Amino acid sequence: MSSVSPQDPWVQVSEIVRLVRSGEAQTRPELADATRLGRNIITQRIQAAAELGLVRPSGQQRSRGGRAADVWEFHGDEGRILTGVVGSFGLRVALTDLDGRVVEETWLPGELTADPVETSERMAVAMEALMRRHHPDGPAWGVGIGLPTPVDFLTGRSTSPVTAGPPGATWPSDFDIRRWFTRRMQAPVWVDSNSNLSALGAAAAADAPEDLIVVRMERGVGSGIVSDGRLHRGADWIAGEITHVTVQGEGEPICLCGRVGCLDAYASRWAIEAEAVALAATGASAYLTEHGTDLDVVVAGAEAGDLGCARLVLRAADAMGRALAALVTWFNPRRVVIGGNVLAESSLFQSAVGRTLHMHALAASVQHLEVRYSTSDRPEELQGAAAMVLEVLLSAEYMAEWAPAGFPIDVEVLLAKHADLLA
Ligand SMILES: [Zn+2]
Repeated sequence: MSSVSPQDPWVQVSEIVRLVRSGEAQTRPELADATRLGRNIITQRIQAAAELGLVRPSGQQRSRGGRAADVWEFHGDEGRILTGVVGSFGLRVALTDLDGRVVEETWLPGELTADPVETSERMAVAMEALMRRHHPDGPAWGVGIGLPTPVDFLTGRSTSPVTAGPPGATWPSDFDIRRWFTRRMQAPVWVDSNSNLSALGAAAAADAPEDLIVVRMERGVGSGIVSDGRLHRGADWIAGEITHVTVQGEGEPICLCGRVGCLDAYASRWAIEAEAVALAATGASAYLTEHGTDLDVVVAGAEAGDLGCARLVLRAADAMGRALAALVTWFNPRRVVIGGNVLAESSLFQSAVGRTLHMHALAASVQHLEVRYSTSDRPEELQGAAAMVLEVLLSAEYMAEWAPAGFPIDVEVLLAKHADLLA
């Protein structure tokens, strides 16, 4: 999008909404201080934001000089955002408010099929059901989609697969999911990788630091990078592809990418389950022979004291700790969030990652580092999908273009104006 003048009234409205929403400034005097705009202009811009439904009065506050000032708050209930995340083992669909709070969530289990239209159709039907229940009167303000692959954020298309995945596990780059959902849900659509959505979700937490890394383990190991409060997508949209970082781990396992010793070959679900099958077949793990070889079983076995299972969990944790040590030393995040599957919930895994990380990282770079573990239901993804939509919707450029006609925007006008973008 082209940049717009800071004098544009809608750019000023966007800034006022941002300040009110973040809580940085919520009264006319505070907004005047923060923006250096005159009181009369501030009054007009607040009025415009209130007419859009984005802010509303929420009582009064004693200000300097003892005069009472109206306090404004962001009106998260004004519109609805739809989010849909395509995972390797199922689809998650949710409806959120404009604060990114999940109103209702639907889980559609099933392996990722090779047909993207079929997958999109399942998600759209679930989205329509959520809209009927919670927002029957209007289209959503926006739709946020997550894919299990790197995504070109400008086009919403999957970039070429980084590796040859198992059949059905890769997302085709020739399917225009953004255009498909724009027409189907009659709302503007943005698409990003699930790892980037997890990072956006973690960055949206109230206590989130400006610099953080999110590691998301599902079938492989993904990660997302937030630097100075902004998501870092990289020059080719593949920033955070931690799964193919080489670690000097135990043995020389060959990765799906054809190289030796990637983190993926130690810590991904496929690698751990392949080892589990071998251990079960040789009888080296009584637990696996009895209970099966899924990752959940390996983690449960390790926690129950089965040495074969514990070795697999520790091997994955050692590789993860080594990969993180390099990233943390180089990037110096304040927080690392590790989540995505059941491995992150294992206390054995957690303590081993911490040990290896501290052993291999520069002491100064881990001194104030906080390592957090998330749950395997990945709450960050849906919050991140909503955050992605809201970041664009409420941006200066987008407000300048669309706010004069009001939200939610008319999708036929959007498609006519941006036929090139959405072609
Ligand atoms: Zn690899």
